Amino acid sequence: MSNNFSYWERAAFIDNADVIIIGSGIVGLSAALHLKTREANLKVLVLERGFLPSGASTKNAGFACFGTVSEHLEALKHTSEEDVARLANYKWRGLQRLRQNLGDANIDYQQHGGYELFMTGEEAHAEKAIDNISRLNNLLKPAIDGHNIYTAADAKIAGFGFNGVSRMIYNAFEGQIHTGKMMRALLNKCYQKDIIVLNGCEISAIYNNGDHIDLTSPQGNFTAKKVIMATNAFAKQLYPELKVTPGRGQVLISKPIPGLKLKGTYHFQSGYYYFRNIDGRVLFGGGRNLDFAAEETPEFGHTDAVKQKLTKYLNQVILPGQNVEIDYWWSGIMGFNEEISPIVKRLEPNMFCAVRCNGMGVAMGSLVGEEVAELALR
Ligand SMILES: Cc1cc2nc3c(=O)[nH]c(=O)nc-3n(C[C@H](O)[C@H](O)[C@H](O)COP(=O)(O)OP(=O)(O)OC[C@H]3O[C@@H](n4cnc5c(N)ncnc54)[C@H](O)[C@@H]3O)c2cc1C
Repeated sequence: MSNNFSYWERAAFIDNADVIIIGSGIVGLSAALHLKTREANLKVLVLERGFLPSGASTKNAGFACFGTVSEHLEALKHTSEEDVARLANYKWRGLQRLRQNLGDANIDYQQHGGYELFMTGEEAHAEKAIDNISRLNNLLKPAIDGHNIYTAADAKIAGFGFNGVSRMIYNAFEGQIHTGKMMRALLNKCYQKDIIVLNGCEISAIYNNGDHIDLTSPQGNFTAKKVIMATNAFAKQLYPELKVTPGRGQVLISKPIPGLKLKGTYHFQSGYYYFRNIDGRVLFGGGRNLDFAAEETPEFGHTDAVKQKLTKYLNQVILPGQNVEIDYWWSGIMGFNEEISPIVKRLEPNMFCAVRCNGMGVAMGSLVGEEVAELALR
């Protein structure tokens, strides 16, 4: 190492790692947790480039969701019914695992249900979605523990005070979490299991030497017997051949709103816009579809086009006439591809990856992490 690490620092934190995980998002930490659950004696080290996790896991909307009718119908255009049901089941099981691992109270899990909204002018699209409710309920019933998931819910629209919403579909089985609490609970669980998480450590190169792998970072070199890359949207920076395209999501949170009526998770325009209640406020995000090329970036930030659109929908559709003030803006980066499944595989001997949750990692991340940990243990 080309730095000033002490003998103590090396022995306690750095040297002799059995497995190094690159990236401390939900997937990386879930993988670490699973490794230590299966093999308590392993030395597991997680290396994260950010001061906090710096991708999607602390930036998301916290929807514990497994898909709207429109999203499933869109997927069915290029994917088989079997695959759509399999993915819904994967997300459903992933959410159960997240809750089981961390506990509902620790992640503030609340099941107020989810709604898909259709605007005035989208009647044909709404009609098609509503006509497909029983088809999707039948298809997904076995995937979601035998429940009939979707029901038409037009009668509830007026109670939320929306403007310009003409039709609505309800899903009683969706919930929401507090994203920050979820990631803290996950980190706490990792610390309890003696997993070392080091921040400010960006890996810039990987050298596979057969019986060990060296990783280069500005802090110095790290060595492990096995490495798991869980860098999601940033995967191509280390493995350019991986099919992962970054997609930025921009989000706002309003100031607290006295007498807020909405409660639950809401999607519209095929999931490109989403909002929910949190602590008496509204979280609202989306708008990637306004300019896919501009949002296909690994850079955090905002665009005027998306900010203006979100502000307009907030004031005209979601909370009409209330002149709501916005308290926070932020963005996060997701990893996408038209293939709907994540990439969990061996890249080369002793080197594995688990990336591309396609914007659904709250739901899938726990299982994706477990799967890659199992691969590494084999
Ligand atoms: C705005 C937004 C809203 C979302 N809403 C939802 C939702 O409501 N429900 C849902 O299910 N999903 C949602 N998602 C998606 C979900 O957050 C992601 O799918 C999930 O967090 C992905 O987890 P991950 O661990 O794979 O990736 P990440 O959380 O991105 O973690 C990857 C980590 O790797 C680190 N890293 C990258 N390169 C390096 C390197 N070279 N060296 C060291 N570290 C590195 C990054 O800093 C990052 O912390 C949303 C995402 C965004 C951005």
